Amino acid sequence: MAPNKTNNMPTHQYVTNDPLHQLFDAVDSISVQGYDEQRRVIYWNKGSELLYGYSQQEAIGKKLEDLIIPAPMREPVVEAHSNWIKHDIEIPASELTLKHKAGNDVAVFSSHVMFTNQYETKQMYCIDVDLSEVHKAQAEATFNANMLKTIFEAIPDLFFVLEQDGTIADYHANNNNDLYVSPKQFIGKKMIDVLPEKVAHKFQLHIEKATTQGKMVSFEYELNMPEGINYYEARVRLLAKKSQMMVIIRDISEPHRSAELIRRQAHFDSLTALPNRFLSLDRLSQILMEVQKNHVKAAVFFLDLDDFKKVNDSLGHEVGDKLLIEAAHRLQQALKKNDTVGRLGGDEFIVLISSLDDESDALVIADRLLKAFRKPFKLEGRDLILTLSIGIAISPKDGTSASVLLRNADTAMYQAKALGRNTSSFFTPQMNVAMRRRFEIEEQMHGALERNEFELYYQPQIDVKTNTIIGAEALLRWHNIVLGEITPDEFIPIAEQTGLIAPIGVFVINQALRFLNEWQTVNNQQYTMAVNLSPRQFRDPELVNIIIHALNENTISNECLELEITEGVLMDGQTSIREALLQIDELGIKLSMDDFGTGYSSLSYLREYPFDVLKIDRSFIAGITDNKADCNLVKAAIAMSHSLEIKVVAEGVETKEQLDLLNELNCDIAQGFYLSKPLPGAKLLTFLLRCSKAT
Ligand code: C2E
Ligand code: CA
Ligand code: CA
Repeated sequence: MAPNKTNNMPTHQYVTNDPLHQLFDAVDSISVQGYDEQRRVIYWNKGSELLYGYSQQEAIGKKLEDLIIPAPMREPVVEAHSNWIKHDIEIPASELTLKHKAGNDVAVFSSHVMFTNQYETKQMYCIDVDLSEVHKAQAEATFNANMLKTIFEAIPDLFFVLEQDGTIADYHANNNNDLYVSPKQFIGKKMIDVLPEKVAHKFQLHIEKATTQGKMVSFEYELNMPEGINYYEARVRLLAKKSQMMVIIRDISEPHRSAELIRRQAHFDSLTALPNRFLSLDRLSQILMEVQKNHVKAAVFFLDLDDFKKVNDSLGHEVGDKLLIEAAHRLQQALKKNDTVGRLGGDEFIVLISSLDDESDALVIADRLLKAFRKPFKLEGRDLILTLSIGIAISPKDGTSASVLLRNADTAMYQAKALGRNTSSFFTPQMNVAMRRRFEIEEQMHGALERNEFELYYQPQIDVKTNTIIGAEALLRWHNIVLGEITPDEFIPIAEQTGLIAPIGVFVINQALRFLNEWQTVNNQQYTMAVNLSPRQFRDPELVNIIIHALNENTISNECLELEITEGVLMDGQTSIREALLQIDELGIKLSMDDFGTGYSSLSYLREYPFDVLKIDRSFIAGITDNKADCNLVKAAIAMSHSLEIKVVAEGVETKEQLDLLNELNCDIAQGFYLSKPLPGAKLLTFLLRCSKAT
């Protein structure tokens, strides 16, 4: 102890009200205790009462070690105190954990002084400052530090502390492998020394932004990592008070890749990897903007593989898919890099030629595409020949919007198909009119049966020799509310192509036989009814059953029904058609070869198939009275038919002269406007009168 220090202090044994005690009494945030040489309490201020729980009365006279010293510390404390008294060895100030009256620990910073009073006795004063708040704060700080450490460890993000000039001061990384370069290479360095220039520049820009705006800014960047390009998101924030920056970096490669995948799926066809319809049309729109801006030309090709459905149906979808992939590849190979080939869906492709010097160039490119398909496709050990039909539309001539151009190219493609496939066709406005009409007819035809828009007319047929009606041909009429009257020559081919001929054909058979029943009953005669059948109707395996059912339903004997078919049916050469025709013949139903003289007019069919009737096309009948060749052909056809026991019908008889000549030529039956136009059923029932007049 320092004697000079104690000497000038007021000293006494039991003082109650000296100025020092008054001062200590006034502060209750500090505990002050006085002890005599035997460590008995001689002073105990309010602060001590608060800190240790003993009141002044309880404490005075008690020994230090019995009050606030925990058991293990008692001996050393007693020893230190006696060392101080006897040998003047000061007890240094220190942090101690003492004891509260209630038994709990009290953390204090304890300082000690020794006074010698006028009686030469020594008094030790302890001044204890409560450390519990400090400890709490320290514990909190440690906890926060640990928490931060745990967070750093748990989060895959990288954390960097930067000085405002961009120097990297510190970092936290879960895994150092995530770092672009090793910490040694970047600590104390600037961004620009470590990162690629473009990325470093981005950082600098956003650090400045974060500084001036005083809030978090974020941006994305990419880095070339050993495993490929990685994508990152960086968030930068000025650290409050310190002039440092916190940069948090997150690897967003995964979400970036899935977003890219989604983008690909949305824009590319998964089978062929070509741009899909959406992307193709988007590119077309871009090309069209250039067309407008730079006054150039562009071409849109609409491609459709010929008979692809047949391949799919006969060889299966797997082969079909392989074929589409190979077809896509060949198209790409045949085009330049700048040209786009996309898949519109199914077996339809689109080709975009962006700047076209001359329209004829489009034809050259189309030819190149057609040629690319010349070589057979080798699949599963087979050689498959696949061809395509191409429709070409040129912008701006054939349209300036993607949708119009695509539609017009599609129209031209149909024209290419009509030209026999495996070819290309330019769009013309006339095509559009025809297409629109076709489209409207097709649209209206759906539901026409349900709306009862179809009606059968009947054109009487007469026996040329006796001039009596022997039957009629059923001819379909369509009265449509929107389009008016549509001729069968126009709507039957469309019904054929769309397949609607099947239900319409069933309607015709039923309707014709119902009328025939009525007609036969009213006149008590075995009239025949001729009904036209289209090639497509033979695809229906139920056809024969439908016919039998209709005959039975209307109690018509089989030989009163005559089915008219054209060579087109026979040219398919399918065994199923042959079988159906033989079945029809066996049932006693009559078979008639329609439109003889047009098309191939192969006489061999007459021998090959069980025909009962030959109908000479009206284009020959029109010429028989003036044209020797026509007359000779008709004469020969009649002679040959008769030798095969086939009856001959002359259709399109428009004059008395024609009828007389046909009579001379031994023609069996006649039909035509001279005798009667096709009539509604009710009119035919009354038609008899006029005809009997003729006889
Ligand atoms: P088609 O079988 O050759 O029918 C005869 C066509 O010649 C009918 O035309 C008829 O009105 C017309 N015609 C009759 N007499 C004369 C005449 O003296 N002079 C001239 N110039 N023409 C005459 P339509 O009714 O317009 O039928 C056209 C074609 O439509 C038919 O030719 C037939 O191939 C097809 N068709 C008509 N109805 C049906 C049907 O119910 N089913 C099927 N599959 N095809 C049908
Ligand atoms: Ca006919
Ligand atoms: Ca005919």
